[in-house]
Amino acid sequence: MLNLVLFGPPGAGKGTQSNRLIDKFNLVHLSTGDILRGEIIAGTNLGMEAKAIMDRGDLVSDEIVIAMISAKLDNNPNANGFIFDGFPRTTAQATALDDLLEEKRTSISAMLSLKVEDEELIKRLLARGEDSGRADDQNKDIITNRINEYNNKTAPLKEFYAAQNKLSEIEGAGSIEDIALKLNSVIDSI
Ligand code: AMP
Repeated sequence: MLNLVLFGPPGAGKGTQSNRLIDKFNLVHLSTGDILRGEIIAGTNLGMEAKAIMDRGDLVSDEIVIAMISAKLDNNPNANGFIFDGFPRTTAQATALDDLLEEKRTSISAMLSLKVEDEELIKRLLARGEDSGRADDQNKDIITNRINEYNNKTAPLKEFYAAQNKLSEIEGAGSIEDIALKLNSVIDSI
């Protein structure tokens, strides 16, 4: 199986690049942000609980997102592999993911970490907010909080995967096509 963690701060291009990789490598895309937004639209209890947290740009609890990923792994027993997008975001999530994959006799193949400067992230997110109407993309203070959450709680996961020799850092500025080519060449070398 090919199991990829597509990593990087909000606005790094994880969703855009995931969409290309799922087609090319026939993978299942698991984005915890997308799953949570689906719960909000469906008006579930989980969605209502998560909405206030997401609107502030804070992280939803580990327990909730780990349970969501566990269910999605169980629902896709014949997958060729998975792209994890926006998950894991904390050490507890990364450890839980390793355990869940081990139960399925598989593991993470690589972490592909996109690097983009903060100023560019803020520009991209505000532009996306105008297009999509996403509340957490429309306010600079919320965006800054999300970037801070990334730097404090999520970025340290690079060390977690580096210790397993699985980290590749990729420059995330430039054209979508150029970044896709760089990601493909890393994946081909796995
Ligand atoms: P995203 O679409 O990945 O930018 O996620 C949007 C928001 O959903 C984040 O700001 C968090 O509030 C929440 N979220 C998504 N994934 C996670 C996760 N793995 N752990 C905690 N919160 C998450």
